[in-house]
Amino acid sequence: MKYAVLNRGDDISVSLTETFHRLANGQGLICDDEEPEIVLSIGGDGTMLQAFHRYVGQLDRIAFVGIHTGHLGFYADWKPNEIELLVQLMAENRSKDQIYPRIVKYPLIELQLDGEDTGKRTYIALNEFTLKGVENTLVAQIDINDELFEMFRGDGICVSTPSGSTAYNKSLGGAMVHPSIPSIQLAEIASINNRVFRTLGSSLILPKHHHFDIHPRKKQKLLLTVDHVNIPIDHFRSIRCRVADQTVTFIRYRPFPFWNRVREAFLGYDEHGHYNV
Ligand code: NAP
Repeated sequence: MKYAVLNRGDDISVSLTETFHRLANGQGLICDDEEPEIVLSIGGDGTMLQAFHRYVGQLDRIAFVGIHTGHLGFYADWKPNEIELLVQLMAENRSKDQIYPRIVKYPLIELQLDGEDTGKRTYIALNEFTLKGVENTLVAQIDINDELFEMFRGDGICVSTPSGSTAYNKSLGGAMVHPSIPSIQLAEIASINNRVFRTLGSSLILPKHHHFDIHPRKKQKLLLTVDHVNIPIDHFRSIRCRVADQTVTFIRYRPFPFWNRVREAFLGYDEHGHYNV
């Protein structure tokens, strides 16, 4: 089994990475940063975003797993003190009850930016992308399935995946979507509503066979952010987005139910009703 590790860079994550390499070496696992089969992220959900973008060109042959060195993450369920068990399960490639490992696939967003200077560029997001005005508000027409839907004016828009629905999207009042539902969610960031610009006001969830386009209504400096990556853009004709054909794969050696993570992360108690905060 070939693996790679990415860590957050803090002392705990760096030291855990060294421990992981030592244990993995002892179990016959091979470190290969170029062609890994499993990528381990050590840190937080932000670290998993970095690992994802480092290997975004190899998603069809990589499975991700995460150790959290802070609070329980949405992408990282292993605790630092479970590192030996994780290495052992990776080496054996099975759990005691032989039900695991399981391969879990989550939907992603594909966005195609049609820039006046740059031509067409495609990006893949694990959490979301946002489009915001830099100097002024974003002014754009939004079409769904090639038909005019609304004229948007406001700070920006946020388009999230189901697994990203617990991140920026949640702060915008968007719904949390189970990652087994291939969909994208469009949430508004401080929209202005008047007689000219009128938006729905609530977030929209589009299924896999739908797409939508964002057409700027004036020349404007904008900031496109794909997960944690900022891409300043000057002039573009459109951004088309839809559920990507690719998915991201996570390897599970034990259950990691999405709603349990939501409860523990946002409500602060476990399945017995005990507060963890
Ligand atoms: P950051 O500003 O350092 O961290 C943002 C926070 O979002 C961290 O606490 C991170 O968890 C958490 N997070 C990331 N993915 C998540 C997910 N799928 N569900 C729940 N929480 C999640 O930025 P970063 O580490 O580079 O991460 C970029 C992400 O920040 C973006 O994808 C966006 O979702 C989020 N963000 C949120 C807001 C907002 O809520 N107003 C604004 C900007 C960006 P960890 O601590 O475990 O890493």
